[in-house]
Parts: sequence; structure tokens; C-alpha cells
Amino acid sequence: MGVVPLKEIVDRAQRDRYGVAAINIVNDLTLESVLAAAVERRSPIIVQTSVKTVKSIGSDVLMAMWRAMTAGIEVPVCLHLDHCPERAVITECLDKGWNSVLFDASTMPVEENLRQTIEVVAEARAHGAHVEGEIEAIKGVEDDVGSDEESRRQSLEVSVHFVETSGVDVFAPSIGNAHGVYSAEPHLDGQRVTDIVAATGVPIALHGGTGMTDEQFTDLIARGCAKVNVSTALKVTYMQSNLAFLRETEERGKWDPPSLFRHVSADVTAMAAGYVDRFGSAGRAW
Ligand SMILES: [Zn+2]
Repeated sequence: MGVVPLKEIVDRAQRDRYGVAAINIVNDLTLESVLAAAVERRSPIIVQTSVKTVKSIGSDVLMAMWRAMTAGIEVPVCLHLDHCPERAVITECLDKGWNSVLFDASTMPVEENLRQTIEVVAEARAHGAHVEGEIEAIKGVEDDVGSDEESRRQSLEVSVHFVETSGVDVFAPSIGNAHGVYSAEPHLDGQRVTDIVAATGVPIALHGGTGMTDEQFTDLIARGCAKVNVSTALKVTYMQSNLAFLRETEERGKWDPPSLFRHVSADVTAMAAGYVDRFGSAGRAW
């Protein structure tokens, strides 16, 4: 199938009530490993980059990696820019060919957020790209974006007005979820997802997926969370896999980088495939 628009992936997922993993990659190895999981499981997948990753690797190199690694791929995939408060980075990524962006103006008053999101949607449409919107910050700092304070949840009326007026393709409400590692099992407001989906029909993005239980995923996906973000789990898997392998290497005294890459890649692929299975998207490639 190859690279497809975000909307095609999330609309099908919402219609058939499965979730598509949206996984934040940090380099070439993690990108290749996440794509391998999608191919292995015959699943659609959304690959995400944080603003920090875009700035550290550079949009040209990232796009070249993406194009090379998705050439001829047989499952539906798309490239998404995660939480981006910077309009210049949004413009840069849309120009380079990202399929979608999350314009994160959640620290702005809703009216200003709405005004600017309308502009971002128009800009994305000119590229055939899509937009995720949010009006409440998801608790927790991720790749230098965000705050540890949970922001006030807006009313259903304000949320529905934002979704309908802005024209966003995916909406990310705060439902008690958080970025990072949960200190205790989160209490999630699934009814809020149901209410927003019933009123707007727009697929919901679930942030802060790392650490949620299978029951929570199943419930929220059934309510219309079609895009399920996973970032912390990849970082933890990547670092711990490196650490475990390097500790062993130190003991054995055999220093061979390709063995390290193979080991870490297998762990990252297994982690991503595990989420694909849990979200019910295995075998859903078209
Ligand atoms: Zn997020």
C-alpha cells in the first residue's frame, strides 16, 4: 500500500473500531524497526517525530530516511509531526512532505488556538496533509514540550465548537492521561471520548499510552480512539536494550556495533508489534 494520508488510516480505524499505534521514533534504527513491526503484523502504522527529533536530525535527512525506508512498503504508513507549538516547524515539515501535524497551541486561550488552527488546517490542505488539534495540554513534559500541571478540561460545547470550526481531522482531548511514566494507574474519562465522537464523528488521538492497561486501551479504542500514541515505551525499550547489550559486551570484551544494532532493533520491533497486537490493528493492512 505504501505512504497514505493520515485521514485514510484513522477514519478506517475509527469506523472498524481498532487503534493504530502512533510511535515516536528517534533515529534511523528506530524508524526501520517500527516499520518492520507494521510489515510483520500486516498493520497500518503512524510514525511520529517530535520537534526535538526534527531539529536534532534535520527535516531533510528525516524525510530522506522516510522515503528510502518506505519505498515499496506493502502496508499503509504515514509520517506525523507530534506536539508542535512552532508554526515555522509546522510549515517546514509540511513543505518537506510530512503527512500530518499536531499543532499544539494548548497553552493559548482557546479562541487564539482556534484562529491559528484554522490557518494550519488551510496550510496542511494545500499539501494534501492533515491536522490533529488539541485545546488542553496533556499533562507531562515530552521532548521539552508541555507542562507537569494538568490543564483545565474544556466543556463539551467548547470542544465540539473547536473541532467543527477548525476542521481538524483528529482531536486530542485531555481525559486524565499523561506523558511519561504513570506513578499509579490513571483514571481515564472515557465518557468524554464517547461524547466528543458522538457530537463530531472525528477520530480521537489518545496520548500518554505508555503504562495504560489492556482494558483501558480496549475501552478507549471502542469509544473512538483511533490513533494511540506511544513515545515513552520506545525510549525506555531503546535505552534499556542498549544498556543490556553493552553490559554483556563489556563482560565478553567483544565490541561489534552491528550486533548491537541487530539486538536493539529486534527489541524495538517486538515492542511495536506488541502494541499493534494490543490495539487490534494486526492484519488490518489494505
Ligand atoms: Zn502527546
